[in-house]
Amino acid sequence: MDTEYTIDMIIQKILTDDKQYDLSKIITSYEFAAKAHEGQKRSSGQPYIIHPLAVAYILLELGMDTDTICAALLHDVVEDTPVTTEEVRKKFGQDVAMLVDGVTKLNQVPMFNKEEQQAENVRKMMLAMSQDIRVIIIKLADRLHNMRTLKFRPGIKQRNTAHETMNIYAPIAHRLGMRGIKEELEDLAFHYLDPFAYSEIEHILELKKKEREEFITSIKETIASRFRDQDFEKPPHIDGRVKSIYSIYKKMFVSHKSIEEIYDRYAVRIIVSTVGECYNALGLVHDMFRPIPNRFKDYISTPKANMYQSLHTTVLGKMGIPFEIQIRTWDMHATAEYGIAAHWKYKEGISHSDKMDQRLAWVRQVIEAQQTSDDVEEIVRIIKNDLAPEDIVVMTPMGDSVSLPVDSTVIDFAYRIHTQIGHKTVGAKIDGKLVPLDYKLKTGQICEIMTSNEPDKGPNRSWLNIARTNEAKSKIRSWFKKANREENIAVGKTALEKEFKHFKIRVPEDELEEFLGDDLKRHNCMTLEDFYASIGYGGIMLSKIMPRLQDKYKKLYRTDEEEKETAVIKPVRKSSGIILDKIEDCTVKFSQCCNPLPGDEIVGFITRGHGISVHTVNCTNYLAAVKRNDPEELARWMDVQWTDSEQTSLQTSIEVIALDRVGLVFDIAAVLTEARIPIIHSSSRKLKNGNALFEATMTIAGTDQLKSVVEKLKHIKGVVSVERART
Ligand code: MN
Repeated sequence: MDTEYTIDMIIQKILTDDKQYDLSKIITSYEFAAKAHEGQKRSSGQPYIIHPLAVAYILLELGMDTDTICAALLHDVVEDTPVTTEEVRKKFGQDVAMLVDGVTKLNQVPMFNKEEQQAENVRKMMLAMSQDIRVIIIKLADRLHNMRTLKFRPGIKQRNTAHETMNIYAPIAHRLGMRGIKEELEDLAFHYLDPFAYSEIEHILELKKKEREEFITSIKETIASRFRDQDFEKPPHIDGRVKSIYSIYKKMFVSHKSIEEIYDRYAVRIIVSTVGECYNALGLVHDMFRPIPNRFKDYISTPKANMYQSLHTTVLGKMGIPFEIQIRTWDMHATAEYGIAAHWKYKEGISHSDKMDQRLAWVRQVIEAQQTSDDVEEIVRIIKNDLAPEDIVVMTPMGDSVSLPVDSTVIDFAYRIHTQIGHKTVGAKIDGKLVPLDYKLKTGQICEIMTSNEPDKGPNRSWLNIARTNEAKSKIRSWFKKANREENIAVGKTALEKEFKHFKIRVPEDELEEFLGDDLKRHNCMTLEDFYASIGYGGIMLSKIMPRLQDKYKKLYRTDEEEKETAVIKPVRKSSGIILDKIEDCTVKFSQCCNPLPGDEIVGFITRGHGISVHTVNCTNYLAAVKRNDPEELARWMDVQWTDSEQTSLQTSIEVIALDRVGLVFDIAAVLTEARIPIIHSSSRKLKNGNALFEATMTIAGTDQLKSVVEKLKHIKGVVSVERART
């Protein structure tokens, strides 16, 4: 991958491209940069100028404009040589200087700890993007070349860079719709983060390569011959696609698919001239092959959040081998492959301006959210959250589609429709049925929000725990930020005291400010009251700061005796023991008025923002409601039942040590998948003695299940030991 890029390659590419470039400006930029970097070397030992040339070449392939190419060639001169931005401006103009300046600023990140550095990095990136999106496109190309040549960097640097690439750069590329760059960044990062699993998947793909190619070729021919006598404007373009190594890995570990389900899944792409032809082509392929039910997705009428459009269907080919077919127009193809860069690549013929605007709207949203959150770590988490590639599409009663991240709730939906609708939400109906506010939406549902008529109606603080999107949380926070400071302080103080009590943290009043010292600083709070106020409006999340405070307390105050007493595994989610109308995953609380016990006949009341509160059927409050007979109020009472048993799920980690061999990771994954154990996180690496270490964090229903899985894992060929991790 570490090609010796030359200016000749760039010139050749420009001369064979039908796009117009200012060749002399590009050559002058090259000469200027080459002179400035003269004598400098990359870690690979190659002359430094190879790097800017490579970045320029990547951007040329994306179809970026002259100024972007010039800025790419010059992107490191201000940072690494005596050249100033002013000189660049005089020689190459305002635009190029601004782009170089933007990229340079992105690289100058103050040295905080690693997480803060990452958050700061992201903040800068978002700001740069909002000024000129080309800055981030150059930065992505820069990162891509650095990743391609990462093997020349020291080991620790490799891991950090790979980590940052996976967590920040690849998601941004995804959000900007740049598929090629995103997939290459992910695969390269994955290679360093989990080299063992990477080479294993690579190996298996290699084994099946010939078979796969033959299969795809025959499918392509079958489809092409059927299309030949049909009425298409131009012959459809058909090609086969190999899924990226990282996407296969993700499918295995996130969606718990077996190996067969993934590596035997082929993908074929059909590109046609018009939207109408897309649907014609779909009809034809469904006539040729048997479609698998529920696998058809129409992303043409409801595009994904990153503006991706296509028809997807999965059909059965020869010998019952399933494969996916994607059907799209050339226009959609450009957006799917190049994303925002398509704006420069195909200036004419495609209406990009609104797509551009929508993408930039997302950037603005993230920046706004950052301004209402004081917690620097929260920001990184938030951005990754909002970047999750899996989206759901929900409809308004008017038939408008709204796309949201997976696990979004009614609250997220309401705030997406309009800030005021969000604030005034009192309830919601899904497909006509009342649901609690923390109900998780699913694709295809119709969601209707019920709002209050009271003019001052505002959100409930508990919504911050219900909302999934950054957008909703930030709107809720800013409502409370504007609300009464005294109230925020009181609410924050009470909440912190409650957490302290829960975790048995006992700090004398007069030592509290000192105890919280660095946390005040970290969150830009001058006084303890500021700190309480921030907790009050949700700018500081207690769940984020408590682990650190517990550690601190342990170091400063706690005795050994107390430690023993509290050293228990923390349950992840305790099921409430309540089922209501098929909704199992909702917040349930037992009312104080009648204290229902298992076995009592019970009813549930949909509260405003606290999920369901459970009462006995004899409860005076319930009976009073029945007597009032107000239909609006009665609609909020619903049938609930006790579940048969109470289940507690624990999160636990295991470590498997085994002789390094091909197929090991798959065998382990197969055991866990078969036992239906959700894997939350996993990694593997080679140990010095040639063995391999596989670690997985997962949700376990109890010690019995853990024991049986450990036994099964021990029986896998080559496994030396299976231990529960001590952390
Ligand atoms: Mn660079």
